[in-house]
Amino acid sequence: MTSNAWHLREPDDVLARVGVTASGLTSLEASRRLEAHGANQLTTERRVRPWRIFLRQFASFMIWILVAAGVLSGLLGEVVDAIAIFAILLLNAGVGFFQEYRAERSIAALEKMTAPKATVWRDGAMAIIPASEIVVGDVLALAAGDLVAADARLLEAHSLTSMEAALTGESEAVAKQTAALPSTADGDIPLGDRDNLVFAGTSIATGTGRAVVVATAMETELGRIAGMLLETSAERKTPLQQKLDAFGRILVSATLGVVAVHFALGLLRKTPLVELFLTSVSLAVAAVPEGLPAVVTVALALGVSRLARRGALVRKLSAVETLGSTRVICTDKTGTLTVGEMTARAFFVAGQRYEITGEGYGPEGEVRLAGREIQTLGDGPHRASLRSIQALVEILLANNQAQQMEKDGIWRTIGDPTEGALLTAAIKAGGDRARLEVELPRVRDFPFDSDRKRSSVLRRVSLDSQDHRLRAFVNGAPGALLEVSTQLWTEDGVRPLTAEDRERLLAQTAEMAKSALRVLASATRELSLEESAREPDDLTAGEIESDLMFVGLTGIYDPPRPAAKAAIAECHAAGIRVVMITGDHALTADAIARELGIHSAAPALSGRELDQLNDSELARRVLDVSVYARVTAEHKLRIVRALNSHGDVVAMTGDGVNDAPAIQGADIGIAMGKTGTEVTKQAADLILTHDDFATLVAAVQEGRGIHDNIRKTLQYLLAGNAGELLLMTVAVAMGLPSPLFPIHLLWINLVTDGLPALCLATDAIDADVMSLPPRPRSQRLADRAFLWTLGLTGLLTAGVALGVYLYALKTSTVEVARAAAFTVLVFSELLRSFGARSETKPVWRISLATNLQLVAVVALSFGLQMASQRIPAFTRFLKTAPLPLSDLLLLLALGAIPLVVLELVKLARKAKSPQ
Ligand code: ADP
Ligand code: MG
Repeated sequence: MTSNAWHLREPDDVLARVGVTASGLTSLEASRRLEAHGANQLTTERRVRPWRIFLRQFASFMIWILVAAGVLSGLLGEVVDAIAIFAILLLNAGVGFFQEYRAERSIAALEKMTAPKATVWRDGAMAIIPASEIVVGDVLALAAGDLVAADARLLEAHSLTSMEAALTGESEAVAKQTAALPSTADGDIPLGDRDNLVFAGTSIATGTGRAVVVATAMETELGRIAGMLLETSAERKTPLQQKLDAFGRILVSATLGVVAVHFALGLLRKTPLVELFLTSVSLAVAAVPEGLPAVVTVALALGVSRLARRGALVRKLSAVETLGSTRVICTDKTGTLTVGEMTARAFFVAGQRYEITGEGYGPEGEVRLAGREIQTLGDGPHRASLRSIQALVEILLANNQAQQMEKDGIWRTIGDPTEGALLTAAIKAGGDRARLEVELPRVRDFPFDSDRKRSSVLRRVSLDSQDHRLRAFVNGAPGALLEVSTQLWTEDGVRPLTAEDRERLLAQTAEMAKSALRVLASATRELSLEESAREPDDLTAGEIESDLMFVGLTGIYDPPRPAAKAAIAECHAAGIRVVMITGDHALTADAIARELGIHSAAPALSGRELDQLNDSELARRVLDVSVYARVTAEHKLRIVRALNSHGDVVAMTGDGVNDAPAIQGADIGIAMGKTGTEVTKQAADLILTHDDFATLVAAVQEGRGIHDNIRKTLQYLLAGNAGELLLMTVAVAMGLPSPLFPIHLLWINLVTDGLPALCLATDAIDADVMSLPPRPRSQRLADRAFLWTLGLTGLLTAGVALGVYLYALKTSTVEVARAAAFTVLVFSELLRSFGARSETKPVWRISLATNLQLVAVVALSFGLQMASQRIPAFTRFLKTAPLPLSDLLLLLALGAIPLVVLELVKLARKAKSPQ
C-alpha cells in the first residue's frame, strides 16, 4: 500500500485508495488490517529476550577466569573442585538471570504504559489508542502537542503547523494545508515541502486537523531513515551503572596485577604450579564482587515498579538516581497542587457582582444578586441585570467544548475542567446550550493555549447562507483580554472602554483573585467576511482576538488538594524547596500558596516582571521567589536555567506542548499523565498518572531510598571482598597455606554475601529518609564515610578470620584451620548483613519485619553452613571439615565481633554529631 505520490492526490482519491471514508475505519476492519500488516512499530524496538539475558551472565571477564579455573582443576584431576566451580557458576548465572529477567520485564511493561497514544476515528467516534495499533486507513485527529505516529495525508487543517526537525532538520514549525500539490517536472517534491502530509516522528505545534494514515511502521519516512533507528536502541545504562562498569574494569585490572605479583613471587619461591594457580584464582575471586552489577539493576528496577504502583511512571531509568537529590521542585498549580475540579463562584458584569451557589459540575445551584435569585429579576427594575447575565452566559456557552455527564449521582465534566465550570455556571443562570448550537452554527475554534491565555470560537450569526456575518466568542485571562478589548458592555448599552474601566475591571479581578478564585474574562465581537472576501480558514487567532467588546468576569474556585499541603510540609522538612509556577493571576497564586504553606521570601514574580530581568538578575531572584504567576512556557525554561545555575537539582512539571523545552532542560522533567500532551510526556523523565503533587514527593522519597539501598548494598558487598582479599594477601605474604580455596570464596561471594545483598538492594525504604536534607549532586557514592567503613569492616572481618586461622593452625590440622576460618567468615558476613541495613541506625532499631526476605535468606545460608558440617557429600563439596558444636558456637560468637564493633562506631558517630 505504499506510494510516494500521496501529496499529489486529492483527499478523496487518497481515502478511496486506502479504502476508508472520512469518518474512519470500523474497529473490525482496523483489527483485520493490524493482523495483516503488523503493528505500527519500528522493528528495532526493545523486546525482552531471555536467552540474551542468560548469555549476558557469562559476559564478564571474571566469569571466564573462573571457567578456566574449573577446566584446569578438572584437567589436574581435581574433579570435585571442577564440578563445584561449575555448579556455582551455573547457580550464579541462574540467580543473575532470574533477577535481571524480572527487572527487564518490569521495565518493558513500563515502556508499554508510557508508550505514545494517538486519537483516531473508529466506528464513527474518536478513540484514544496506543500508537502501535494505528493502521493504514485510520483517520487521525490531530491537535497541538500530539505526536504524529504514522505518515498521513491531511483531510482538514486549521492553523495546523508541525515540527519536523527530527525528519528534515528544519527547526521552524511548518504550516500545513490540505490541497493536492501540483506535480513537478521531475516528479520529486522534497519531504519538507509536502505540506499536505504529516509524518511519523514529528509533532503538531499548533492548530487542529484530520488526516488519513497512508503508511505505518517501517514504511513511514521515519522508518526509511536508518540513522533514526539507532537512536531508539541507544545505550540505556544509567550514570551509576556506567560508573560501576568502569569501577569493575579497574578492579579487574588491579586484581590481575596483584595476581601477577603473587605468581611471580611464587615462582621465585618454587611453590608448586598447581597450588600457585589455585591461590591465584582464589585471590582474583576474592577481589571481585561478582554479584554487583545485578544488584544495581535489581535495585533500580524494583524502584521503578514501586514508583509505578504509586502513580509515577519512569521513562528514563537514570531519573530514579537523580530524584533522590532533588533540591527544588517547580510545580504547576492547577490540577497538581489543586484538585482541578472547578466551580464558578462569582460573575461580574456591568458593574455588578453576582454570587453563584452549588458545588461541583451538577446543575443544582443558582445565580444570586444581593440574595435574590436572578431568574426572578426579569420583570422588576433589574431587567437590565438579567440581560447582562444573559450576554455573559451566551459567551460562556458559545465558547465551550466541555460535556457534562451524570454517573452514579455524581456530575462529571469531560474536557477542560475550566470550561466545565463555565458551562455549569451558565446552566445555573438559565442558559440553553442546545438552542445556541442550532441558532449559531460553529465555524472555527482557536483552542486555549497557556501562552496566549485566550480561547476563541467563531460562529455564524444566522442560518441564512447569504449572511456572511460571524461572531467571535472569546474567553481568557482578564489582563490578556483587556489588552485587546476596545468596547465595554454596560446596562445602558455598549460604549468605548476607557482607561478607568480597565482599572476598575483589574481591581475587580484582583478582588476575586485574593479570595483564591481564578478569574476568566469574556468578550465578543462581530465581523463580516464579505468585506474582506476571505474564508474563515484563513483567519488567524490574532486577527479575531482584537477590537473586542468586553462583557464580564467569572471567578472560579479550585480547592487545594488535601494531600498537597502535607506533601509540601514534607518537602520542607526534607530540605526541598517547592516553587509554584502558574499561568494564573499573581493574587490567586499567592492565595493558594498561602493555603498550601508555600513560603515565598519575596512576593510573587509575574511573567512580565520576569521579562525585565536579565539572566544574572533572575539567577539572584530565584533564590527568594517561590511563586511565579502569569508565566509562559518560555519563562519556565528561564526559571529552570536560573535555578540550575546554582547547581541545584531541579524537578519541573509541565503539561502543554510549549512546556517540553523546560521539561527537557530540568534535571528531572515531569509530565502530567492526565492533562499532559504526548510531546510533553515523551520529553519527560517521569509521568505522574494522577497529576498529583503528593505522588511527586513520594517519588523523591523513593529516589532517596533507592540511592540508600544501592549504597548500602555496595558497601556490604565491597567490604566483604575487602575482608577476603586482606585475609588472603596477609596469609600468602606470611607464607602460610592458603586459608581459603576458590570454592570457599565463590560460595561466600555468591551465596552468603550474594543473597543477602539482593535483599539489601530491595530493602524497605526507611521512614526517616525525608528528615534529612538532599544529598548534593556532587557527592560521590563512595565518599569518605563510605570508604572508611569499608576499610574498617575489611580489617575487622579479615582480623577475626586470620586470628581464628592462626590459632587453629597451631592447635590442629590445616584442614580444620581452613574450615574454621571459612565458617567464621561466613558467620560474620551473615550477621553483618543486619547492621548493613542502615548507616546510622543501630541494628536493634531496624525492624526485622520490614525485610523478612533477608531473615529467610540468612536463615537459609546459616542452615546450609551447618549442613555442610554434617552431610559428608556437602562437606566434601565445600572442602571443609566437621567441627564440634562447641567450636561452631564459639565461631558464631567471634563472627559477631565485626557487627558489634560497627554498631558501636555508629553510636559513637551519632553521639559526636547529633542531628
Ligand atoms: P495554570 O498555570 O494554573 O495551569 P493556565 O495557564 O491553565 O494556568 O491558565 C492561565 C489563565 O488562563 C487562567 O487564569 C485563566 O484566566 C485562563 N484560562 C484557563 N483556561 C482557560 C480556557 N479553557 N479558556 C480560556 N481561558 C482560560
Ligand atoms: Mg494549565
